[in-house]
Formats: sequence, structure tokens, C-alpha cells
Amino acid sequence: MPSPKPAGIYIHLPFCLRKCPYCDFYSEIGTPDRRQSFLAALHGELVLRARRDLAVDSIYFGGGTPSLFTPAQIGGLIDGIRASFRLSPDSEITLEANPGTVSRDKLQGFRAAGINRLNLGIQSFNDRNLVFLGRIHDAATARRALTAARAAGFENIGLDLIYGLPGQEPANWRADLHAALETAPSHLSGYMLTYAPGTPLEADRIAGRIRPLSEAAVADLFDITVDVLTENGFVHYEIANFARAGNPPAWSRHNRKYWNQAPYLGFGPGAHSYDGRVRCWNDADLDAYRQALESGHPPPGGEEILTREQRMIEALFLGLRQTAGIDIQEFETRFAVQFVELFGPALTDLAGMGLATLEKGFCRLTRSGLLVADAAAARLAACD
Ligand code: SF4
Repeated sequence: MPSPKPAGIYIHLPFCLRKCPYCDFYSEIGTPDRRQSFLAALHGELVLRARRDLAVDSIYFGGGTPSLFTPAQIGGLIDGIRASFRLSPDSEITLEANPGTVSRDKLQGFRAAGINRLNLGIQSFNDRNLVFLGRIHDAATARRALTAARAAGFENIGLDLIYGLPGQEPANWRADLHAALETAPSHLSGYMLTYAPGTPLEADRIAGRIRPLSEAAVADLFDITVDVLTENGFVHYEIANFARAGNPPAWSRHNRKYWNQAPYLGFGPGAHSYDGRVRCWNDADLDAYRQALESGHPPPGGEEILTREQRMIEALFLGLRQTAGIDIQEFETRFAVQFVELFGPALTDLAGMGLATLEKGFCRLTRSGLLVADAAAARLAACD
């Protein structure tokens, strides 16, 4: 059954100034002209898929590097969304920004255009780390972007950091975390460096040019992340995500929709949508996307109607990513199953390995369980 919860809207803006060697997101370097013609297509998609009765309370501009676009272009997209959907006045509207692409004026423009949450892809406050990651900015630029964001009136600022670089010592990562805390963000995401297939970073690993950090060393850095951030007023709410404590914590309303299987609509090439039953997506192909929409047709893509079993497996995977875990009663009502009966043997195994707990009506992963969340969820899913 489609959920009555307000939906989130994700807008994929697939352009970057330069590709970072670890990144497997769909984006291209592009030109201002290509960006402009893409925007026209994107507006076309918003009109084509308009549902004026659908309540929306979050928008997330991701990419790519959304901050390559001008405030007027972003404001135009927010207007387009408002014309096509029932956008709540208190919506959370997030823009991902690369510190190397923003100025105080531009940030002021984004704020005036309606962006009320800024997520800065800082990645590290250490110049050597930033060079390794192939970022277009150095640490001083990142700090300037943060100062400019505050001056532009952003109160709700999230920072992305990456850890687990080859040879990274605990002290190096602690320094990054403390540097981030000094800027008093509302939200912190600490992502473990991954070697995604097809990326230059993965090619370097295969060729032996770089040696990834051992699993044990990465696990230590994860421990440090959780300790440092929770000791400094942050709530750990998802494997990689931490929100400043409060009522509610300053978590990402939009991203929680993904983990809670709330409805979301994705626009742009490569974007996915989900309504509680059907998942559909646009192909990650900018030219095909543009050509289809220029002639008034939906962009090429696909769709899949999720069976009850598939939805249940997703609920396991997504629920266990969150530190709150799975609300057993809610799960049982939703899928008409007996949780403990169904997953008992696997739960006993996971609990025996210190990876999961079953307490007070919730099934949760422990801190070591969160490090292997997908494998733990797969162990449960195999019982189904
Ligand atoms: S700027 Fe972001 S989206 Fe673009 S290549 Fe780097 S990590 Fe990927």
C-alpha cells in the first residue's frame, strides 16, 4: 500500500568540476551550456510527473555538485517543485555543496532561494588527505566556505568526512573529527573510504599502487568516530550519520525517508523513486534523458513492483542500518509475521557473535554489528 507519509524529492544534478578518483556517482564534467539544457529537461520532468495532491516535506539537491548551479537556477527548480507538488512550508531543503565552488554571495543566494540546509563535502581538513582524495579544494578553502555559509545565514550545516585512507593513523582521523567539531555543525557524516568497481582508486588498488587499510584498522577508526562524536553531543543514528542532539536531533529528514521506506521521488538521470510498493528509476544517461524530455516523453528507465518478501528484506537491511534498529511490533503488523519465530536461529547466532541484540521490542545491531550491517541483515534475510 502506498504510504500516506509526506514524500521527499531528490534532484540529481550530474555535473562536477572534476571527478574524484574514489567516486562512482553518476556525473560528468559538462559545460555551462550542457547544464542549462539539462535544466530545461529537468523542468520538463517535474511537469510531466506533477502530482499536485502529493504532500512533500523534503527536497534534496544531490549529485554531482549541485553548488555548480547558480542560486537563480536552484530557486527556479524549487519553484518548479512547488508548482508540481504540495510542498510543505516547513520543508527541509538541502543542497550539497563542494567548498571549492561557493562564495559568500553565492551562498547568500542559495539561502534566499529557499535552501535551509547545507551539506558541505569537506571530506578532510588535512591537505594531504585532500590531495589523495583528488578534491578540488584545500582545507583553507573548506574553512572559508564554512565561514561564508554561517555569514550567509545557514544555521543547519552538515559536513561529510571520509576516513580509512591508506596508511591513515588514528591521530590523523581524530584531528579531522575535532576540526569538524570546532565548526559546530548540526550534522556529520563519516564515510569509510570504499574501493568502488570501475573507479581510478580501485584500479590503483588492483595494480598494487596503494594498499588499503586493514579491516581492523578501519574498525578502530569507526570506533573513534562513534566515541568522539557521541562524547561531543552528537546522536549516532545511522551507520555513517550523526546528528547534533536535540528534540528532535538535527538529523536529515530526507535521508531518513530512505531508511524508513517512506516515499520519495527522484528526478534527473540515475535518480530512483519509491512509493512504498513500486521502485522506478531513470537511466544514468544524460543525453538519453535530455532527448526524451525535449520531445515530451518520460526519460528511459525501469520499474519494479516489490513483492511483500522483497519489502520485508529491504526493511531488514534499512532498519538495521539505523541505531534505533527494527521496531518488532511495527514490523510484525506490517508484514504479518512473527519476528522472533521467523528470525530466531539467525538472531541467536548474531547475538552469540556480539553483533545484534533483541531488547525492549527492538532488534538492533551492536557497534561491531554496524560494521558488518549488510552481512548481518543478509543472515536474517536468509531465514525468510
Ligand atoms: S565532487 Fe562529489 S560527486 Fe563529484 S566526483 Fe567528487 S565525490 Fe563524486
